Amino acid sequence: MYLKKLEIQGFKSFADKINLDFTSGITAVVGPNGSGKSNIGDAVRWVLGEQSAKTLRGSKMEDVIFAGTEHRKSVGFAEVSLTIDNSDNYLPVSYSEVTITRRVYRSGESEYYINKTSCRLKDIHELFLDTGIGRDGYSIIGQGRVDEILSSKSEDRRHIFEEASGIMKYKVRKQEAERK
Ligand code: ATP
Ligand code: MG
Repeated sequence: MYLKKLEIQGFKSFADKINLDFTSGITAVVGPNGSGKSNIGDAVRWVLGEQSAKTLRGSKMEDVIFAGTEHRKSVGFAEVSLTIDNSDNYLPVSYSEVTITRRVYRSGESEYYINKTSCRLKDIHELFLDTGIGRDGYSIIGQGRVDEILSSKSEDRRHIFEEASGIMKYKVRKQEAERK
């Protein structure tokens, strides 16, 4: 399983649709200050369901939509699609490629899709539970996160091990069953 493709349109500094193709192995993004490197990371977090505008370095969710520049009008929506190569069936679905999409209009609520079929945020969460990918996964390690892991409380650290060892989905299901 690996990140194969990222399509970004109307998200932060990316007014026009851009396609980023990745191969297995290491990819480095380089560019001058302010050219949009971190915005790519933000796009990945956002499509995985990030709900905190602050984590995305904004003050409200609308800040992820291209706001316009001196030469360019703002746009009405942001959309990001992330494609994962699943030919090793690491994700528990019978597709060799899985694309998740998130779109948001200025009016609010986000729409989510798995392989172009509309779904809930919860479905995206469940798809990635125990894979290390996802909003709360450890596949994105931001600045300061390493320190945070080392200095966190033992219960919080256990959370990370539980996700890594693949038992998180059982815990989530148990909690859901207890709530019903
Ligand atoms: P550095 O090397 O300093 O870390 P970077 O390449 O990581 O830079 P980013 O933080 O990804 O740069 O991009 C910052 C740019 O994105 C700024 O120029 C900012 O104006 C622009 N930007 C952020 N949000 C929006 C938005 N909603 N609409 C238009 N531009 C935006
Ligand atoms: Mg940056």
